[in-house]
Amino acid sequence: MAVSAYDPQNIFAKILRGEIPCNKVFEDDHVLAFHDIAPQAPTHILVIPKGAYTSYDDFAANASDAEVIAYTRAIGKITAAAGVVEDGYRLIANTRDHGRQDVPHLHVHIIGGKKLGLMLP
Ligand code: AMP
Repeated sequence: MAVSAYDPQNIFAKILRGEIPCNKVFEDDHVLAFHDIAPQAPTHILVIPKGAYTSYDDFAANASDAEVIAYTRAIGKITAAAGVVEDGYRLIANTRDHGRQDVPHLHVHIIGGKKLGLMLP
């Protein structure tokens, strides 16, 4: 099945271009993280690469090693700064239709700050 091309009008692309605001928690050369606008738990942060990647598989296949390392390490730094490491948290990367991905720019949700419910299909 063909995967859609990157849509530069998606909302996270607009955040990256500074066209709409976000509540930023972390930024470096390759990564931006901000609070989810509709948090599902006390901690709900979205971590996005600055490059134009639609999904995790696109990123894993096409990002540079520097981007992959920066993204992976950023998630570690952000969880530590958010204070969720000791009690634990959940990482989610919803992907395309079956994964219920709404925004077609790769984002990992960091969700925590309380004991979460079980994940059921
Ligand atoms: P997903 O279903 O994984 O694509 O989730 C998209 C997430 O983006 C949802 O949790 C939304 O609440 C969140 N979201 C949408 N627009 C914004 C925005 N402008 N700022 C922050 N989070 C947003």
